[in-house]
Amino acid sequence: MSDIALQTHGLGVRYGTFDALSDVNLSVRCNSVHSIIGPNGAGKTTMFHALTGTVAASSGRIELEGRDVTRASDDDRVRLGIARSFQVTSLFPELSLRENLRLAAQGRTPWQALIPWRRAEASKSVLDMADAVIERLSLGHVATRAAGELSHGQQRRLEVGMAIAARPRVILLDEPTSGMGIDDIEGMKTLIRDLGRDHTVLFIEHNMGIVMNISDTITVMRLGRTLVEGPPAEVRDNPEVKAAYLGNM
Ligand code: ATP
Repeated sequence: MSDIALQTHGLGVRYGTFDALSDVNLSVRCNSVHSIIGPNGAGKTTMFHALTGTVAASSGRIELEGRDVTRASDDDRVRLGIARSFQVTSLFPELSLRENLRLAAQGRTPWQALIPWRRAEASKSVLDMADAVIERLSLGHVATRAAGELSHGQQRRLEVGMAIAARPRVILLDEPTSGMGIDDIEGMKTLIRDLGRDHTVLFIEHNMGIVMNISDTITVMRLGRTLVEGPPAEVRDNPEVKAAYLGNM
């Protein structure tokens, strides 16, 4: 069996007549931390949109564990196991951190499921999953606090936790450290690095320190294409990458 969790073959996305992605071949290994970097406008967000089904591929193929999901709806991709981290805005602010995670473990967003869930008993596996994720996030001390009262850094960790709780095959994180202070960045860095031991994580990140420190593999994008894909040391020393970043690496 292949150890590739997520793969694209010649993936292209067009916005009107503009090629936002062209011929992208991405290969994300199971249980690894894989980052996507590149200058503004490189196509990183478009890549995530294409993987989650938010935008349609205009050419090429997307495979999840060898299964062609190129034409699958965004909902089907979630069911098949492609999880994009929730945004702070999609947490239910009045529910506790633990309650938010229980909803995610049930495969529901808080907004969809608030009322039915409150009336129904959560199953033991859901309760166990929520507690396991809380431990993983190191947020046991605020498990009963309302999500809306958590610090920004704690909320961002909870976003990642919501993705984990849904038992995904691949977790997509979009700039998980953006807007964070140094302490919160450290916490997120540790969380993502540890997640890579038993989860497959693909993340977009601008902070080169983090990217170089915790990635098993880095994909560098530029002008909608893959410039290079490889381990940090290889990427750092690549002349084309250095040129694309004008030495800022
Ligand atoms: P950033 O780091 O600034 O977020 P990015 O690497 O995520 O950039 P994208 O947001 O994927 O890049 O954008 C890639 C290109 O596609 C850019 O030139 C952008 O202007 C263009 N683009 C993005 N969304 C659309 C759209 N809906 N319609 C037309 N062009 C778009």
